[in-house]
Amino acid sequence: MEGRKAGVCLKGADSCAGSMEHLKTEEVKELTKEYLMNTYGRDGISLVHGSGARVWDAEGREYLDFVSGIAVCGLGHCHPRVVAAIREQAQRLMHCSNLYHIENQALLARMLLAGSPFGKAFFCNSGTEANEAAIKLARKYARVKHGVARYEIVTALKSFHGRTLGSLTATGQTKYHKDFGPLPEGFTYVPFNDILAMEQAVTGKTAAVLLEPIQGEGGIYVADEEYLWRVRELCDETGAILIMDEVQTGIGRTGRMFGFEHFRVVPDAITLAKSLGGGFPIGALLAKDEVAEVFTPGTHAATFGGNPLACAASLAVLKTMQEEDIVNHVTDVSQILFNRLNTLKERHPQVTEIRGRGLMVGIEVLGKPETGIESPAKLICSMCAGMGLLVNAVTDTTLRLLPPLIIGEEEIEQAVDVIEQVICAVY
Ligand SMILES: *Cc1c(COP(=O)(O)O)cnc(C)c1O
Repeated sequence: MEGRKAGVCLKGADSCAGSMEHLKTEEVKELTKEYLMNTYGRDGISLVHGSGARVWDAEGREYLDFVSGIAVCGLGHCHPRVVAAIREQAQRLMHCSNLYHIENQALLARMLLAGSPFGKAFFCNSGTEANEAAIKLARKYARVKHGVARYEIVTALKSFHGRTLGSLTATGQTKYHKDFGPLPEGFTYVPFNDILAMEQAVTGKTAAVLLEPIQGEGGIYVADEEYLWRVRELCDETGAILIMDEVQTGIGRTGRMFGFEHFRVVPDAITLAKSLGGGFPIGALLAKDEVAEVFTPGTHAATFGGNPLACAASLAVLKTMQEEDIVNHVTDVSQILFNRLNTLKERHPQVTEIRGRGLMVGIEVLGKPETGIESPAKLICSMCAGMGLLVNAVTDTTLRLLPPLIIGEEEIEQAVDVIEQVICAVY
C-alpha cells in the first residue's frame, strides 16, 4: 500500500530515460508536419519514456502525467506486470484468428464478467468499435424481440462515443458531425440529466438509450442518480435497452470497477476500452445474456478483436487491479484530490466548480466574458506542461485530470501545487 501511494517506481527508470538515442522534439515536430494528417492539435512535446505516473520527453525533461494517455494507462506507464505479460505472450502467439478458440480471450471474458450483471463479452480494439458493436446489438435485439424495424438510439448532448460513422452520429455534439454527412439515420439527442426531455424522447421506436454515466470529453458531467433511475424505468416500460458507454469511466477510473455502480442502476450492456489494456489497444462490449444472444456467427466480427496479445495485457491489468485493490486505492486518493481542489476553489474565485468522481475530475475556470482570456483552460494546460505537469483542457474553460489509478498522495500534492501556481499567474 505504501509503495503504491508513492506511485510505482521502476528500478533505474530515471537513468534509463536518457539512455536511448531519440530524435529531438523539433525534429519529430517537423516530421509530423511533413508526413502526418493534421488531425490532432498537439502540444509541442515528444514523449519517449514512461514509468508509473511519470513520463520523459526527448530532451529528458520529466513530467507528472495527469492525462494517462486520456485514461488509458490506468496502472501507470509500463507497469512491470503488463510489460511482462505482453513480452511473454508476444513470443508465443501474437495473433491467430477468431476462426479458432483463443484461450486468453475466454479467460479475459470470464474475469471481466465475474461479479458483473453481464453474461457475455465481445472484444474489439477501441472505444468507437465497442460502441458500433453496441449499436448493432441494440438494433438487432430490437428487431428480434419486437419483430419490426425499431432502430432509434437516444443519446445525450455533450456526449462522446467515438469517431466512426455510427458512434460519431451517436455523439451529441454537432461540431464533430459537421462536413461528414449524410450520417446514419435513427439517432436522437436530449440534454443530459433532463428527465422531461428523456421522457419525450423514449418511445415505442426506441431500440436503446446510450449514455455515459459521467460525460468525459463533454466536460466531466456526472449523471444524477434520479435521472438514471428514470431512464432505466423508461427503457423497461418501452422495451428499449439501456447501454452505458464506460469507455472512459470503466475499469476503476471512478472508484468503482464500472461507473454505473455509483448509481445503483444496472444497464443491459456497457462498452469498455481506454484503460482495459493498460496501454495496449483493446475494447469490449459486455451485455446481459438475453441481449447478447441475438449475435450469432456472422452478425459481427473484428479481425484483431480479442487477440492473444491484447487479452494477455488486459488479463495482467485485471489481475493486478484485483490483487493490489486498486479500485479502493482510487477512492482513497480521490478524497485527497477533491479536498485539495476544493481548497483551491475556496482560495481562487476564478475556479468556479470541481466536478467528477474518483480520478476523473473536471476543474471549471472563469472564461472570456469575465476575464478577457480566450481559452484559459488551454493556457493553464500549456503553462502546467512548462512546469512539468501534464493535464488536459476539454473545453475552453474546463481542465480535465485523469491521473493513473496508482497515483500517490505526494504526486497529488505536487500536481495541485503546480495548478495553483499557474492559476495565480494566469489571472
Ligand atoms: C474515448 C472515448 C470513446 C472513443 O474511444 P476510441 O478508442 O478513441 O475510439 C468513446 N466513448 C467515450 C466515453 C470515450 O471517452
